[in-house]
Amino acid sequence: MKVFNTLSRQKEEFVPLQEGKVSMYVCGPTVYNLIHIGNARPMIIFDTARRYMEHKGYEVNYVSNFTDVDDKIIKKANEEGVDPSVISERYIAECRKDMEALNVKEATTHPKATQEIDGMIEMIQTLIDKGHAYVAQDGTVYYRTRSFQGYGKLSHKNLDDLRSGGRSLLVSGEDQKQDPLDFVLWKPKKEGEPYWESPWCDGRPGWHIECSVMSKKYLGDQIDIHAGGEDLIFPHHENEIAQSEAANDKEFAKYWLHNGFLNIDNKKMSKSAGNFFTVRDISEKYDLQVLRFFMLSAHYRSPLNFSADLMEAAKNGLDRIVTSVSNLNYLMDKVQDTGMSAQEKALTEEAQVFIKKFDEAMDDDFNTADAVSAIFELVKFANTHVTEQSGKAFIQAMKDEIVMLSDICGLIVEKKEEILDTEIEALIQERQEARKAKNFARADEIRDTLAAQGIILEDTREGVKWKRA
Ligand code: AMP
Ligand code: ZN
Repeated sequence: MKVFNTLSRQKEEFVPLQEGKVSMYVCGPTVYNLIHIGNARPMIIFDTARRYMEHKGYEVNYVSNFTDVDDKIIKKANEEGVDPSVISERYIAECRKDMEALNVKEATTHPKATQEIDGMIEMIQTLIDKGHAYVAQDGTVYYRTRSFQGYGKLSHKNLDDLRSGGRSLLVSGEDQKQDPLDFVLWKPKKEGEPYWESPWCDGRPGWHIECSVMSKKYLGDQIDIHAGGEDLIFPHHENEIAQSEAANDKEFAKYWLHNGFLNIDNKKMSKSAGNFFTVRDISEKYDLQVLRFFMLSAHYRSPLNFSADLMEAAKNGLDRIVTSVSNLNYLMDKVQDTGMSAQEKALTEEAQVFIKKFDEAMDDDFNTADAVSAIFELVKFANTHVTEQSGKAFIQAMKDEIVMLSDICGLIVEKKEEILDTEIEALIQERQEARKAKNFARADEIRDTLAAQGIILEDTREGVKWKRA
């Protein structure tokens, strides 16, 4: 498997630090609003990379953070007159709903910045002790950028160019910085802001330190893959490298993967310009599987344009796969189980070529666009060769292949069997009996089972009523 490494600007053979295992950190969203479709791109893309590596047999330890302390969260909390945690918890819950609808797997760990302050203080102290950071008069702690030899290696910038173009790097407290390139690790509290005690002042961490600390805590000093959108290369990931490598004396991440940006109608996504969609907006018009399919239709490093037409095309593309699987299921119920004929065996063998194509595409820096084309070819092959005269085993084999490849992409192409009315009623009856027998655990379990199928129960005077959600 080859991956494009932003560090070397080349495709490199992927060799994990530990055989059979992958440690992966993906920078997550700042939770002050519903996530937008741009935020969904790294989620979907790196979830697909994870699924593919798991399919190849790797055990993937996947960590993705929620940035739950930040200026925008604090601003919104002050506007609503609530604690910032009310805002962040609300949008973490909403983000999780969107992730579920996009079929993005739960990370192994989803740490939150506010839960990791002790670790941040510890790493900042290590950086101060090693001479890589210093405390200004007001208690702000700065990273001494020039003290880190490798600064600029990820973004391929050189320090002197940065300095000459560095006016914008002079932010508040600039007069206390020893060098305009230095960046904040810890800043003093301001009126109306949450703060934590620290050896330097009551305050809160800068943004970059959280990822260095969470990555170290949950994955170790060295990790295989660090990923996020390309806007994070500089300064966020460059600063993470400076912090982690100076603190741990080890190379931080072996492979740095960055997704290209998503634009809308060929323009930068912008709330004020009115071209901006949340994932929730899209869910009003489409099943979010369509959005997932849309994201996979391009290579993750390319810029991706979002438009109504392209979404329609994605819907049609996904429908082709779903319809094929549904037809195969229909035929499977109809035909006899007569075993596979010699001709069907040969066809099944022939269809392996699509799996090979799929794997080759994914092995080539997760080329999901070509991988999806391989699924289409397989669908076409199945549609051509499966007829009402086909044997059950052959139809099953075709269906299993389509579902397996779709599944690696996180695409749900097979509708779940609906629970029958008679089954619902039998379960409701059993629940009533369990309640009478005071077996509330079983009664609750039945309610949950039905809820998972989208069946809502209502206890009325006339007995239990139910409806589909
Ligand atoms: P943020 O909440 O802005 O820190 O973003 C969370 C993740 O979404 C980061 O990996 C960003 O790089 C990524 N991201 C934000 N906007 C876009 C976009 N328009 N296209 C692709 N990725 C984006
Ligand atoms: Zn990060």
